[in-house]
Amino acid sequence: MEIEELIKKAGAFAKPFRVTHGDGFRLKDLDPADTLDFGSEDKPRSKEVLALGIEALGHLQDMLYAQDCWAVLLVFQAMDAAGKDGTIKHVMSGVNPQGCDVVSFKSPSAEDLNHDYLWRCMKSLPQRGRIGIFNRSYYEETLVVRVHPEFLAKQKLPPELVTKKIWKERFRDIRNFESYLTRNGIVIRKFFLNVSKKEQKRRFLERIEEPKKNWKFSANDAKERTSWDDYMAAYEDMIRHTASKEAPCYVVPADNKWFTRVVVAAAIIDTPASLGLRYPKVTKEKLRELAAAKRGLLGGK
Ligand code: ATP
Ligand code: MG
Repeated sequence: MEIEELIKKAGAFAKPFRVTHGDGFRLKDLDPADTLDFGSEDKPRSKEVLALGIEALGHLQDMLYAQDCWAVLLVFQAMDAAGKDGTIKHVMSGVNPQGCDVVSFKSPSAEDLNHDYLWRCMKSLPQRGRIGIFNRSYYEETLVVRVHPEFLAKQKLPPELVTKKIWKERFRDIRNFESYLTRNGIVIRKFFLNVSKKEQKRRFLERIEEPKKNWKFSANDAKERTSWDDYMAAYEDMIRHTASKEAPCYVVPADNKWFTRVVVAAAIIDTPASLGLRYPKVTKEKLRELAAAKRGLLGGK
């Protein structure tokens, strides 16, 4: 398959996983082990397609950078061990590091807690011409913070502003924030890597049993499993209220890493591709400048 053909097909491939209207969205209806009609015999082919996709993305990113007009923000959310880090590492491996920034959002610092919750994310938004990746994001404010009320208590909000409506209000803030960014040329695509509880357990055990993976295991991650159902309810509510046409959320099956990566790559390729990017048009003046420089160089100066 040629790269141009792959770029054209990417959007259609990722479409079954794209949520643009959250109304009635149900996580339970989706299978984390889904691989469409593909089986494990397609795994080697998927690697070839991914390699081609990575090349295509490098090419699109180059145009994005040259045009210096749009920015792309990719937001990744998932339970632990769903494969966020590996997916970002593989899918973005062909992109010029100068045109791409990855920011990981961990527990907020004391300084972060002195500000509104979007503050730290605002500071890390991608510049025009670049791709920004949020490894976790402002969405944690409706996930971990909702599942663990003690985190909300640390945010120093005026008590009268903390009501039962707080999550709905946060969803509204986030929708407005994403509309604002969209209207400023920052194109947003969100990814929820949907891993099953069973597969997470298998991956945690692998991290414990394989010495090379021991560093990845944290006892706290295992503890969070006890809140699994609360997290799923929070994710479902988040997608219901924040998936939109302008900022769609891809709910990507994450029990099979080879499949997850191909879907994410396809969705990302489709993002700059849908902008109809071109290399900037060279003006007549610039052409004259180039011709003069060439004459100078060939003349031995
Ligand atoms: P990895 O485990 O692959 O290094 P990670 O994203 O899980 O990546 P950790 O350092 O393990 O990184 O975890 C970061 C923790 O910070 C997560 O448990 C996450 O829920 C938490 N976190 C992120 N944002 C917030 C927030 N706004 N308030 C409270 N906790 C947050
Ligand atoms: Mg972790």
